[in-house]
Amino acid sequence: EAKNLGRGRYVVFDETIRSGLVDALNQEAALRCAQTQKDFRIWQQPVLNLESNEVIGYEVLVRWQRGKNIVLPSEFIGIAERSGAIIEIDQWVLSESCQLLATLRKKGTGALPMHINMCVQHLLRPRHVNKLMSIVEEAKIPAKLIVLEFDEESLQQEDPRRVLTSLRRLKDFGFRLALDDFGRGTGPLHFLYNYPFDIVKLDSRFVGQVARKDRARAMVRHIVTLCTELNIDLFAEGIEEDEQRIYLQELGVKVGQGNLLSKPAPVNIKNFSKEATKNLSASLSNERR
Ligand code: C2E
Ligand code: MG
Ligand code: MG
Ligand code: MG
Repeated sequence: EAKNLGRGRYVVFDETIRSGLVDALNQEAALRCAQTQKDFRIWQQPVLNLESNEVIGYEVLVRWQRGKNIVLPSEFIGIAERSGAIIEIDQWVLSESCQLLATLRKKGTGALPMHINMCVQHLLRPRHVNKLMSIVEEAKIPAKLIVLEFDEESLQQEDPRRVLTSLRRLKDFGFRLALDDFGRGTGPLHFLYNYPFDIVKLDSRFVGQVARKDRARAMVRHIVTLCTELNIDLFAEGIEEDEQRIYLQELGVKVGQGNLLSKPAPVNIKNFSKEATKNLSASLSNERR
């Protein structure tokens, strides 16, 4: 009996792994057939000044429209990174965002900076760096309207010299650079000291604990000081509760995003109008009273 049970357990375990693998292979096969233009969408989430509730920019987030289902990045970015498809996806997201900015500028709507998540592979090949520049150039968008975000954790494994060379080229071209998910990895101070980041995005795990743990507040307080003295802007992500926002503001964090403020939504040109952003700010300010 016991022996059978033991074996049974293994079978269950194998089955879980197997079906996981089948899912991954299915995703991978489907991803290989997916065409960026047709099968992907960009979503956006406003970035706000926590004091005034003014919208100061947007983060662009990719979604995979697989038939009727919307697939989140957590389910396909990893696969796309391994297959190399991520390069094309990221370039497409950048060019879509540039098109959007071009449209907004044409309409006379003040165009705010767009934050685009980039996989670290872009930093490993000069031709990928060139491509990012040419996309922006062709769209005739000032590079300073684009913030390229790189995950702290993903930078860890890469050759620092290559990373630095590419970051410098992007920065010299005019892009702004953000260090995303700050504090999630293991060696982030080195990146602040050596790499030319303009913005640090505080990992949502700190934000999630800031109202509950002294330790989290101590971390945030010191990150605020460090960023201030290094002349780096600090953004908080994943703000879900009013209490978190209050703590963050007390600790000196001035900018943030999160479901409390405004959830990610499919790109809709109407959301970018002065009217819409003003309404958002006003509704948030009223809620606070
Ligand atoms: P990220 O860059 O840290 O983006 C923030 C994530 O937090 C987004 O998840 C966003 O939807 C989510 N979020 C926003 N507000 C809240 C909140 O209040 N609470 C919680 N729990 N989450 C919130 P999403 O869209 O699922 O994206 C996940 C990650 O996938 C992103 O994390 C980013 O690293 C990556 N990603 C997204 N789009 C792209 C892309 O175009 N290219 C690449 N290479 N990676 C991307
Ligand atoms: Mg990001
Ligand atoms: Mg990111
Ligand atoms: Mg992040």
